[in-house]
Amino acid sequence: MTNAPILDTLQRPLHDLRISVTDRCTFRCTYCMPKEVFGRDYVFLSRQELLSFEEITRLTRVFANLGVKKVRLTGGEPMLRRDFEKLVEMLAGIEGLEDIAMTTNGSLMTPERARALKAAGLNRVTVSLDSLDETVFQSMNDVGFPVAKVLQAIENAADAGLAPVKIDMVVKKGVNEDHILPMARHFRNSGHILRFIEYMDVGSTNGWRMEDVVSAKEILETLSTEWALEPVEPNYFGEVAERYRYTDGGGEAGIIASVTRAFCGACTRARLSADGELYTCLFGVKGHDLRTLLRDGATDEELAAAVGAIWGNRTDRYSEIRSEDTIGLRKVEMSKIGG
Ligand code: SAM
Repeated sequence: MTNAPILDTLQRPLHDLRISVTDRCTFRCTYCMPKEVFGRDYVFLSRQELLSFEEITRLTRVFANLGVKKVRLTGGEPMLRRDFEKLVEMLAGIEGLEDIAMTTNGSLMTPERARALKAAGLNRVTVSLDSLDETVFQSMNDVGFPVAKVLQAIENAADAGLAPVKIDMVVKKGVNEDHILPMARHFRNSGHILRFIEYMDVGSTNGWRMEDVVSAKEILETLSTEWALEPVEPNYFGEVAERYRYTDGGGEAGIIASVTRAFCGACTRARLSADGELYTCLFGVKGHDLRTLLRDGATDEELAAAVGAIWGNRTDRYSEIRSEDTIGLRKVEMSKIGG
């Protein structure tokens, strides 16, 4: 097999793979896994339905042979998956992969686990944190999880060498836009990189409305009331965050403007759900079942041919064509395919 990248119908290479390792989470963020839907009666995936570590590793190797260089582990809350470090170690052994990262809410990131993840081969982490205000953050995570523990998790990750740590803040109008400046003040000069994410219409359970989005423009204007910022060149083709630098040397910040400045044209990401469905868009309605192929005994060549065909036929550009008609689609939940 070769390492040549494959292209979709819009000439976008397959470069990144996001792997959701569980659909369960320690939080019930109101904009992602609202309690009314993901409550006591919600039926999560069974152990049998989840891809095993061997299955995930085998598929990832197939993706690496098709040109994937970067893997991001996500969920649900990825650190909830039992023996998660073992999976990282298995993935780190795959030839051709250059970067293994994780997105986490930090609730389980003790110093020991941070060190174990680093030793297993994890390179970097992104920690989600929507506010420094205790009342606001706890009402957003909806399980009363304290801010201080997430801040400690960020330090634990950085101390273990999982750096630079990126901090992702989803900004929702009327909920936490007043916390943009306090978050920026806190993370300037910290060595960590704070990124603001426009609230997105992923899934179909969060009651998304365009009016609830705080746009990248508004976020930048808010930041500009206190500091001068200048744009920084992207690190690589397809980087999701627009990068900015504080001109006074306070470090870097980012904005992920997936609603108001869609970046579908440079989207090189495939997403694998915890039960082995391949999605070619964060706003996908339907996945492609790779688990059945795996469990029915497909060879690596057959798996590669299936993935190649799916990517080769890819036409997705949801954010560019978002409209009143698309918003109501029954899209896959973010807790199923991760961020
Ligand atoms: N549990 C992990 C975490 O909290 O980082 C990983 C999974 S979580 C689905 C990944 C990211 O998606 C988090 O930063 C979360 O805030 C973000 N997210 C979830 N729903 C979102 C939405 N509707 N709009 C924007 N970001 C969202």
